[in-house]
Amino acid sequence: MRLTNLFSKTSKTSPSDETSRNARLLIQAGYIHKEMAGVYDYLPLGKIVIDKIANIVREEMNAIGGQEIGMSALQGKELWEKSGRWDDKVVDAWFKSKLANGSEVGLGWSHEEPITNMLISYIQSYKDLPVYVYQIQTKFRNELRAKSGLMRGRELLMKDMYSFSKDKDEHEKFYETATNAYLKVYKRLGVGDITYKTFASGGIFTKYSHEFQTLSEVGEDTIYVDKAKKLGINKEVFNDEVLAHLGVNKEHLKKERAVEVGNIFTLGSRYSDALGLRYTDKDGASRQILMGCYGIGISRLMGLLAEHFADDKGLVWPINIAPAIIIIARLGEENETTKLADEMYNHLTMMGVSVIYDDRDVRAGQKLTDSELLGIPYTVVVSEKTVKNKKFEVRNRKNSDTKNMSKDELLKMVASLTTN
Ligand code: ATP
Ligand code: MG
Repeated sequence: MRLTNLFSKTSKTSPSDETSRNARLLIQAGYIHKEMAGVYDYLPLGKIVIDKIANIVREEMNAIGGQEIGMSALQGKELWEKSGRWDDKVVDAWFKSKLANGSEVGLGWSHEEPITNMLISYIQSYKDLPVYVYQIQTKFRNELRAKSGLMRGRELLMKDMYSFSKDKDEHEKFYETATNAYLKVYKRLGVGDITYKTFASGGIFTKYSHEFQTLSEVGEDTIYVDKAKKLGINKEVFNDEVLAHLGVNKEHLKKERAVEVGNIFTLGSRYSDALGLRYTDKDGASRQILMGCYGIGISRLMGLLAEHFADDKGLVWPINIAPAIIIIARLGEENETTKLADEMYNHLTMMGVSVIYDDRDVRAGQKLTDSELLGIPYTVVVSEKTVKNKKFEVRNRKNSDTKNMSKDELLKMVASLTTN
């Protein structure tokens, strides 16, 4: 990708109408564009990052037997009335509208009702179960406050999975499997060490639901964490009973602020009963189906990761979600410099390495500042000086480490980065 071909641009200043740090950085670096409070567009670089995060989630959901689907955003009133979740007094997040014929519709903010209803067409017998189904889809929520950038959007990208099981045992096994898959996702995203499985309220037929909370000063939630046991307790359920239940000593707990990056719920037969989804067992008897739901905030994670890894110079992406591994900063227009930079760009592109080529006609200082703002893991500087030394100057964004490398050394390093 050549920067001269990229329509999106970095900006010298941070947007003044934005209070959240993640959105300020992402807008300034040209990853996202603000439509209105809580609503953002993904620009080319931002689209690559959010797709990479989504793909990591997708791989882990597929690995536990999840089947990916894509459901509609438009939802009909009648279906949601059956479960009692159409009323604005019950669910305050709805965006509602009307069809031309007057029928009431809303934009999906979660999908328990439509997925349960859909499966009525496909599940009849015990042979059809269990089913684990998920989607990665834009949800709409009329959030009261949207001041945290991508972390609290009115339009947000979510992975939502739903499980349909024959009995409690089958449900509980999958719930555990999903928990482990979630922990893998956060580990792959580089926040495994600061993300806690957290006990929270809201389970149906179970005392608790589980949230996955990543420690962060800008988090909206307050949790108590036991670092040794690697678990958290949300403030909302924090009492002597939960401490006893978990066998946790109050003195080992630390109060922290955190961001909810995912959560899992046991739903029991709340939705399957309401909508009439049942199955026939081996003996021909009709039985209840037990459900679970499993959410991950993909766009919230992008905001969190942007903010978490950033420093005073800008974004710092981990290699596996960066929009490119390398940015070639060509300093100067001199013939030999251009030739070597072009060659390196073509070579890396041919190797299948994701690389951004800063071929713009701008000052050297701006190219270097931009490479830092963009947060690309490695900057390869090609200048008159490096050409004379017959070396490339390679800067590590994370620790500012700078090394002079021959072409072979550089290619070797790149190969090791892409195989890991
Ligand atoms: P919160 O308490 O933060 O409002 P929630 O309980 O409403 O979250 P769910 O409905 O369970 O969250 O959604 C699943 C996941 O989607 C959450 O764990 C979170 O990571 C993400 N999420 C929820 N609301 C938003 C939002 N407005 N913007 C971005 N991500 C969100
Ligand atoms: Mg909410």
